[in-house]
Amino acid sequence: TDSDTADEAVRATCDDATTCKRFATSKGYWKDPYIQYFTRSPGERKAPEINRGYYARVQGVNHLLNTFIKKANCDCQVINLGAGLDTTFWRLKDENSLPRKFFEVDFPTVVARKIHNIKTKPPLSKPIIETHSTDSLLLDAHSLDSDRYCIIGADLRDVSNLDEKLKKFQLNPELPTLFLSECVLVYMTPSQSSNLVHWAAETFHTAMFINYQQVNMSDRFGQVMIENLQRRNCSLAGVETCQSLDSQTEWFLKTGWEHADALDMMTIYSLLPQEDIARIEKLEFLDEKELLQQLLQHYSICWATKDKLKLGLSQLTF
Ligand code: SAM
Repeated sequence: TDSDTADEAVRATCDDATTCKRFATSKGYWKDPYIQYFTRSPGERKAPEINRGYYARVQGVNHLLNTFIKKANCDCQVINLGAGLDTTFWRLKDENSLPRKFFEVDFPTVVARKIHNIKTKPPLSKPIIETHSTDSLLLDAHSLDSDRYCIIGADLRDVSNLDEKLKKFQLNPELPTLFLSECVLVYMTPSQSSNLVHWAAETFHTAMFINYQQVNMSDRFGQVMIENLQRRNCSLAGVETCQSLDSQTEWFLKTGWEHADALDMMTIYSLLPQEDIARIEKLEFLDEKELLQQLLQHYSICWATKDKLKLGLSQLTF
C-alpha cells in the first residue's frame, strides 16, 4: 500500500544519517569507533557543509544529553525515539557515564537490522554483555533487553503500545528521563507527535525532551528542502511543526512541558567550544560559507523540561 511505501522511505532515512556520520568521522570531525559496524561501506564523499552540519548536530545534542546525565548523576534513563543505528549507548559506556538504562525505539525492521549487527559484531555486543549481570539476556528478532541497554521494535504513532512495551522492559516512571528524537517527529502528523510528546510529559515528573528537526521551512530554501525529501517519497507529515523556533517551544508548552527553549543550528554552532570549531574548520576547505549558514539556519534543537526533583533542568543551555 501507499502507506507501507511511505514508511519504507522513512525507515531508509536512518541509513542516510549513518553514512553521513560515518563519512564525517572518517574526516576527523569527531570520533565514533562504532559507526563503522552499522554501515556496509565508507560511502561516497559528502560536501563539507554537510559534514559541518552533522558535526553541529552531534555536538549540540551530545552537549545537552551529557549535561542532563551529569545533573542526574547517571541516576536516570534515556529513551532514544527513532534511534535508527545511533551509537550513543556505546559512547556513554566508554565515557563511564551510562544512565541506569538506555532505551531505543524504532520500527521493527530497523531494530531487527540493528540487533543483527550487534549479534555479529563483538565490539558492539561486548559492552552490552559486560554491563549485564546474569547469564540470560532477552534477545529475539525485534527486541533485545539487558540490564543497561534495551532496544524495542515499535511504531511511535501507537503510544499505548509503546507505553506497554517500555513498561514490560522495566521503564521506571520515577527516574529522571531524557527523551531524544533526531529527525523523527517530522515524519509523523502533528497529532501523532503531540500524542507522543504529551505521553512523555504526563508519564514522568522529572524529564527532558530534546528534539532536533527542521525549522524556518516556509522560505525558499526550506521549500527546496521539502521538495528534495518528497522526491524520495518521504512525506514530511509534520512539516507544519517546523515553522519557527517560537512555534516549537509553544508546541512543547502546550503538550504538558513546563519549560522549553529552542535555538537554530547556526546559533548553536557559534556557541560550541571555539577551539574545537577552529580545529574542524581546518579539516576541509569550504568556499560556500553562505550555503553552510543557510543550511544551519534551517535546523534547530528544541529542548523542553519538567523538574519535580529540582535538578536544575530549566537552566540547561549552551
Ligand atoms: N535518530 C537517528 C539519527 O539521528 O541517527 C535516526 C534518524 S532517521 C532520519 C529517522 C528514524 O526514525 C528512522 O530510523 C525511522 O525508522 C524512525 N522512525 C520514523 N518514524 C517512526 C515511527 N513511526 N515509529 C518508529 N520509528 C520511526
